[in-house]
Amino acid sequence: MRNIKKFPIGGTHLPENKDLTTDRAIQIALPVNHVIIPLRQHLGVPCKPHVAVGDKVEPGQLIGSNTEGLSARIHASVKGTVTAIEDRTMIDGAPLVCICIKLDPDRDGLDQATQALLAHEEGAASKEIPDAAIVIERVEAAGIVGMGGAAFPTHIKLKGRSDMPIDTVIINGAECEPYITTDDRLMQEQAAAIFRGLEIIRQTVGAQKGYVASEINKPVAIEQLQQEAKNWEYLEAVRLDTRYPHGAEKHLIKAVLNREVPMRQLPMAVGALVNNVQTTVAIAAAVDRERPLIARVLTVSGSAIRNPGNFLTPIGTPIRDLIEAAGGLTDPEAIIVIGGPMTGTATTDLDLPVTKSTSGIVALQPGEYADRSNEVCIRCARCVSVCPMYLQPNRITAFVNNHMLPEAMEFGLQDCILCGACAYVCPSHRPLLQWLRQGKAQAAQQGRNP
Ligand code: SF4
Ligand code: SF4
Repeated sequence: MRNIKKFPIGGTHLPENKDLTTDRAIQIALPVNHVIIPLRQHLGVPCKPHVAVGDKVEPGQLIGSNTEGLSARIHASVKGTVTAIEDRTMIDGAPLVCICIKLDPDRDGLDQATQALLAHEEGAASKEIPDAAIVIERVEAAGIVGMGGAAFPTHIKLKGRSDMPIDTVIINGAECEPYITTDDRLMQEQAAAIFRGLEIIRQTVGAQKGYVASEINKPVAIEQLQQEAKNWEYLEAVRLDTRYPHGAEKHLIKAVLNREVPMRQLPMAVGALVNNVQTTVAIAAAVDRERPLIARVLTVSGSAIRNPGNFLTPIGTPIRDLIEAAGGLTDPEAIIVIGGPMTGTATTDLDLPVTKSTSGIVALQPGEYADRSNEVCIRCARCVSVCPMYLQPNRITAFVNNHMLPEAMEFGLQDCILCGACAYVCPSHRPLLQWLRQGKAQAAQQGRNP
């Protein structure tokens, strides 16, 4: 097919299951009783609370920050009262204890939340783009992080490095994780805001060119992007083949620019900067309207969800409330996965809140979610042939399981992007992804740069 780009080696084709929600317009879903706002929703050090129990807060009010390291500010997502500041166990690939602020919305707090959420749907601005320093300041003030899952503070990314100039910005609309249609819907409904955000990023980092890249399994979104691209001189919409994991940064860059990011280096090593679709919309809102990041769109889907959909919800809304907004579960034994079935984490804790990087909630019938048993490796090498990072997952996980971390790292543990493709194809259903995560967590604990 002409002009359809793809990365050359590795990866796999998955059952997509996106038809459940690709045509479901984004709706607002509000918390029922409270929101729980973790003070660590980003890569880096947790924020320190700026409020105390009993304080009244307004939506968008700064409630946490930390200037002592890499961090991103946290804001109240509803009008209400602080009723607790306490440690809770969150999921960040693995369980993680994190200080959280509990807010109970005032009687009119949810009406205000609705207004704030509706304001997110305003069209793109046509104002002049401010100087780079002002853009970065507003993005930092808004507390924006990578909303595709990485949660890296965006203002740091925009600052870049003087020794690594950026010539191309790519907006990652691949969204290759099954079931999730968050970016798909944003591209269908808010193409103008995405291009506006891309142009802001392009000018801020001094790049010559910008692309929005989406897989061809999103035809309506691609049509919207191509129409919108006609309004922008230096920006284009590009089509990607449908293959997992096209959404991984290095694979996206290879597909769009045919540039190979060297192992253990960042995209800026080859002059590229990659941003998520929803992050880009948030950047446009922060720069044009000085709006903090207090809500996000996510998909609630799966065979055990009664009425799957895409929802805009305040940060901190418990996933229980989102499941109810989607009609509830059809099976009380359903397995709930935060994120998608490939890279997400199964949980039984429905009080867990939506964070800035929660792209979806997927509820599956028990038989559908691979029951990862620890069966013997039959040395079929399927995990090797599918690995998009050209690793040997069977060998790396054997090292991890035998407490041989230096050897696991020598075989590339830190290059693993945790895409889960190896676990997906393993005929023995070995929990390779779980072991890889454990290995990385151990390496981080030992200060080995996972
Ligand atoms: S999870 Fe890591 S080891 Fe497994 S296929 Fe993906 S990159 Fe390769
Ligand atoms: S795919 Fe599974 S069984 Fe096959 S070599 Fe890899 S770990 Fe072993």
